[in-house]
Amino acid sequence: MVATSPLATPDWDYAPAPESADVVSIAPRYGLFIGGEFVPPAAGEYFATLNPATEQPLAEVAQAGEPDVDRAVAAARAAYGGPWGATPGRDRAKYLYRVARVIQERAREFAVLESLDNGKPIRESRDVDIPLAAAHFFYYAGWADKLAHAGFGPDPRPLGVAGQVIPWNFPLLMAAWKLAPALAAGNTCVLKPAETTPLTALLLAEVIQEAGLPPGTVNILTGDGATGRALVAHPGVDKVAFTGSTEVGKEIQRALAGTGTRLTLELGGKAANVVFDDAPLDQAVEGIVNGIFFNQGHVCCAGSRLLVQESVADTVLDRLKRRLGTLRLGDPLDKNTDIGAINSRQQLDKITELSAAGEQEGAERWSPACALPDRGYWFPPTVFSGVSQAHRIAQEEIFGPVLSVLTFRTPEEAVAKANNTPYGLSAGIWTEKGSRIFWMAQRLRAGVIWANTYNRFDPASPFGGYQESGFGREGGRHGLAGYLDA
Ligand code: NAP
Ligand code: MG
Repeated sequence: MVATSPLATPDWDYAPAPESADVVSIAPRYGLFIGGEFVPPAAGEYFATLNPATEQPLAEVAQAGEPDVDRAVAAARAAYGGPWGATPGRDRAKYLYRVARVIQERAREFAVLESLDNGKPIRESRDVDIPLAAAHFFYYAGWADKLAHAGFGPDPRPLGVAGQVIPWNFPLLMAAWKLAPALAAGNTCVLKPAETTPLTALLLAEVIQEAGLPPGTVNILTGDGATGRALVAHPGVDKVAFTGSTEVGKEIQRALAGTGTRLTLELGGKAANVVFDDAPLDQAVEGIVNGIFFNQGHVCCAGSRLLVQESVADTVLDRLKRRLGTLRLGDPLDKNTDIGAINSRQQLDKITELSAAGEQEGAERWSPACALPDRGYWFPPTVFSGVSQAHRIAQEEIFGPVLSVLTFRTPEEAVAKANNTPYGLSAGIWTEKGSRIFWMAQRLRAGVIWANTYNRFDPASPFGGYQESGFGREGGRHGLAGYLDA
């Protein structure tokens, strides 16, 4: 044994700890899930989904066109007027419990597939995405037979056919957020996953088959933006639920204006994570890291603007930099990986462009020493200090592992700076004082506010935004409102 000084940093490296990809079997090609079966797309078109960590294709998936959207909406309508519409709440609950249980049983398969298709670390897909997706189905199963007691009148009715469009950052979890409340309330669904991350939604289609839901209750259409556009504008859709960019959300709102179709939008964010000088700083540093580097920062509620009180700014920045030096970037399937791959070339280009703008506008850029793999899409954890409120990196959503640091002197200034954004999805407060937490929470214009923690999610807790972050809530009792005619 070699004696080492207790103060010396050991230069041992972690041994590789890869999760095996053998637990999933990926088909070379997938059809569309319509009326309880996988069917080929009418036009016979397919596209590849890649593993962003290697740029290797994983499978071909169908490109749904307008005739496929027609067919899926017709299947959902038939199930609504037929077997699903006739299923009482207590039985809908059993189906949802079954879906939750099968997701749990196949959790490892889902986690590996999510990390392969999305690029996120297995530690996150295994410990966050998949358990939360199952929890969402469990939670809403509990509501299915209690709708008369949910505060929406004695006999709230479902809306009909829900058209649902989701992004690529939490593919299975966003599918669960959309499907579980809609089904609990008695609606039928046509869901379009994002172009770059369709595979766990297709595995969920298998689970839905396995759980025995009546054919047509859930339909899954893979495709691009054109598929989403055709779905949300389809006259047979009674309710549209969209999660994605503010730009596309606005387009959908324009398209649906005056049609009577119900709409909820979960859009972008530019959250402030506010650290006061009395905060437990080591915990705050962990919260800052979790706030912006979780899921490579591809998180709508990411704490992308750090507002730190001037008296502790240098200390916080030093500790943050030291902590970022310990993050491990690389193979998403390695259980020791903290930062995985950026989901797509397009997203990498956007992060690169906005970071360059940060430098051009005069902010100071810093990243830890961090070797990037040769293949795939990667971006190192990045911190900008000396950021002013007018900078693009303080105003625009980067949706990547990039933190903008601003300072403040007084609580009033913190509120003014935190609210200086067109968005309003989330915020964080770090302080020892309970009274200050309440004082801040009353003044911050954000749908979700965390105190002395960040990025905590629970199916019982509603989630949603103000202003350009959208409207409507997902999760909790509130999440039922968007799917009930009350
Ligand atoms: P996006 O471009 O708006 O795409 C979201 C979904 O909409 C995808 O399935 C996309 O298909 C589809 N789509 C694209 N154009 C469409 C159109 N004209 N009509 C209907 N659907 C269309 O957003 P993204 O870049 O994938 O996702 C990142 C954004 O989502 C960020 O701004 C983030 O903040 C937001 N987000 C918000 C929440 C929330 O809960 N508030 C949660 C997660 C993400 P393709 O994949 O083929 O483009
Ligand atoms: Mg992919």
